[in-house]
Amino acid sequence: MSRGARWARSSGWWLLAERPDTHRDEHDLARERRTGGTFLPDERRLKAGELPESLGRRYLLEFDTDELLQQRFDVLVVGSGIAGLMAALSVGPECKVGLVTKARLTETGTWYAQGGIAGAVGEADSVELHLADTLVAGQGLCDERVVRAVVGEAAAALADLEALGVRFDLAENGGVSLAREGGHSLPRVLHTGDATGAAIQGALSSAIRSADHVDLFEDHFLADLLTAGERCVGALVLDGTTRRPAVFWADSVVLATGGCGQVYRVTTNPRIATGDGLAAAWRAGAEISDVEFVQFHPTALDHADHPRSLITEALRGEGAYLLDCSGERFMAGVHPLAELAPRDVVCREIEGVMVRCQQPHVWLDARHLGEAHLRKRFPTIWERCKEAGYDLSAELVPVAPAAHYMVGGVKVDLVGRTSLPGLYAAGEVTASGLHGANRLASNSLLEGVVFSRRIARALHDGVPAERAARIVSGPVEQTAAFTIGAARSTLQQAMTGFAGMIRSEGGLSEAAAVLAGLSRLLDVSLRRTEELEVQNMITVAALITHAARVRAETRGAHSRVDFPERDDANWAGHLVWQRGTTPRFVPVPVSHARVPGGGDQ
Ligand SMILES: Cc1cc2nc3c(=O)[nH]c(=O)nc-3n(C[C@H](O)[C@H](O)[C@H](O)COP(=O)(O)OP(=O)(O)OC[C@H]3O[C@@H](n4cnc5c(N)ncnc54)[C@H](O)[C@@H]3O)c2cc1C
Repeated sequence: MSRGARWARSSGWWLLAERPDTHRDEHDLARERRTGGTFLPDERRLKAGELPESLGRRYLLEFDTDELLQQRFDVLVVGSGIAGLMAALSVGPECKVGLVTKARLTETGTWYAQGGIAGAVGEADSVELHLADTLVAGQGLCDERVVRAVVGEAAAALADLEALGVRFDLAENGGVSLAREGGHSLPRVLHTGDATGAAIQGALSSAIRSADHVDLFEDHFLADLLTAGERCVGALVLDGTTRRPAVFWADSVVLATGGCGQVYRVTTNPRIATGDGLAAAWRAGAEISDVEFVQFHPTALDHADHPRSLITEALRGEGAYLLDCSGERFMAGVHPLAELAPRDVVCREIEGVMVRCQQPHVWLDARHLGEAHLRKRFPTIWERCKEAGYDLSAELVPVAPAAHYMVGGVKVDLVGRTSLPGLYAAGEVTASGLHGANRLASNSLLEGVVFSRRIARALHDGVPAERAARIVSGPVEQTAAFTIGAARSTLQQAMTGFAGMIRSEGGLSEAAAVLAGLSRLLDVSLRRTEELEVQNMITVAALITHAARVRAETRGAHSRVDFPERDDANWAGHLVWQRGTTPRFVPVPVSHARVPGGGDQ
C-alpha cells in the first residue's frame, strides 16, 4: 500500500489518495519520502495564490565576508530574552559564547510577561494534568512527546531559575503561591507579583553580565544567518551605532529572537517583536511551521497606546468578570471554565459581543476584589489602568483582544535542532510542537527554559563547523522607493484589518494584495535596522497570510468565518515549508487529532 493510501485510510485524506501526482516533481516526491509529509494538492494551495517573488531572496544586504570585521565563537546566541539567556548560561564556561541582541539586554518580550510561568508543582497537581490541559488547548495539533518533555521538566527548569536568583511569590503557608489562568484546570502558575517577566529578566541579565564565557553585544542586529553548503556557519550582524556589518562565525547558532506581534497594529508585543529571526531563518532555508496560528490575548486595555497594555488572565483567575454592554456576564454558559476558558474561546466570544453591542471593547469588572488586594497582587496593572484614567477598584475597564503570541515559527525537534544543520532555536521564534493550534497560558516562558537547557546539552555532542572561506552576496537591484514609516503602518493596518483574529478569504486576499505591493521593498538595499525590520515584517506577514489562506478551517488561534468548524478529516496536521517550496501538509497521528479542543467543551 502506498504511503498516500495509508494516510487516506487513517486520516480521511481521500482526495489526496485518488489524485495523480502530476503537481509534484521528483524533488518534491523525494522530500516527501524523507520528511513524511505531502505537498498540498493544487486546488488547495492555488487558492492561496503565490507568495511574492521577493520572498525568494537569500540575503537582505550586499556583502563580501572577506571585506568585513570577523569574530569567531563556539556558540552564537541571538536574542536576550528568557530563551537566549538560558541557552547562553546553560552551555557552560567551556564554550566561547557570543550573545547578540538588537536593543538593550533587558528590552525583550520576556520583560513584559505578567502572569507567570506554568509548572505542575502544586500538591493537587501532576504532570499528567498539565499535559492534559496543554493538549486540550492545542486542539489536536500538539506533539504529545514534546508536551510530555516540557511539562515533565518544569520542576527542574524552575529550580534552575531559582538557582539563578529568580524569586517567586510565596503563599501564607510558606509554599510557592500558584495562580490560575485560562485553560488550566487548577492553580499552576508561579509568579512574582504581576511582573514575573521582569523578575526573570532581571535575574538572568545579572547572571549574564557576570558570566566570563559570554561576550555580550547589545545594540547589534542579526541581519542574516550565514550558510555554506547545507549548514549554518554564523551570522551577518549590524552594529546599530556604526551601522557597519560584521561576520560572527560560529560552530552553532541558537536563534532566540522572540515573536512578531508588531506586524499587527493592535498588539501587546514590544517594539522589538518584528519577526527578524523567523524571516532570517526563512531566507536561510530552514523549515517553518504553523505560522497561521497567531494567538490573540482576550484582555488588552482598549486605549490608543502601541503596544497595548496587557491585563493578565491571572486577574480573571482571582475572580474578575467579563461583561457585555448590558452589564451581563457572557462567558458563563459558553464554557465550563467561563472567563478562564482557553484564549481562543474567550476571544471569539468577545468578538461576537463587540459586534452585537457595536462597541470596540467589552468590560472587565474587578471592583469586587477590593483596592487593597488589587494594589498588592497586581501593582503593575493597577498603575497602567490609573495612567489610562481607570480606577480598577471602582470602575469597569474597557478591554479588547490584541495580537499576543506567535504559536508557529522555525520548526525544531525535541532538542531544539532546526532542519538546517548548525542552527538551533528556542522560545517564541520556534514551532516546537508544544502549543499545537493554541498556546496554553504561561507555557511559553517554560518552553523557553526547557528547550534552552536541552539545546545546551545537545551542543556538547555537536560537530564543529568547517570554517567557510568566504561568502559573497551580490548587489541588490533597486526597483522601488518607500517611506519606511508609512510601509510599517500600512502593513500593521492591513494585518489587523484583514489577517487578524477573525479571518476570511476575502479579507486575507486583501492583505495579500497589500503585502504584494509592499514586498517590492524587499528589492531595495537598506542598511538602517528600522528598515531591515520592516523588510522582515513584510516577509513574516506574507507567510502568516499565505498559511492562513491555505488552512480552510477554524482551529485554535486560527478563525475563518468562511470555514467556521474544526475539520479533522482534512486539516489535522501542520503546514510545513521553506523558501523555494509551497506548504507541505504533515498529518498528526490520528490519536492526537481526536483530542477535543477547548471550543468543544
Ligand atoms: C505583555 C506580555 C505578557 C506575557 N505574559 C506571559 C506570561 O505571563 N507567561 C508566559 O509564559 N508568557 C507570557 N508572554 C509571552 C512570553 O513573554 C514570550 O513568549 C517569551 O518571553 C519569549 O521569550 P523569548 O526569549 O523567546 O523572546 P524575547 O523575550 O522576546 O526575546 C527576544 C530577543 O531577541 C532579540 N532580537 C530580536 N530580533 C533581533 C535581531 N534582528 N537581532 C538581534 N537580536 C534580536 C530581542 O532584542 C530580544 O532580546 C507574554 C508576552 C507579552 C508580550
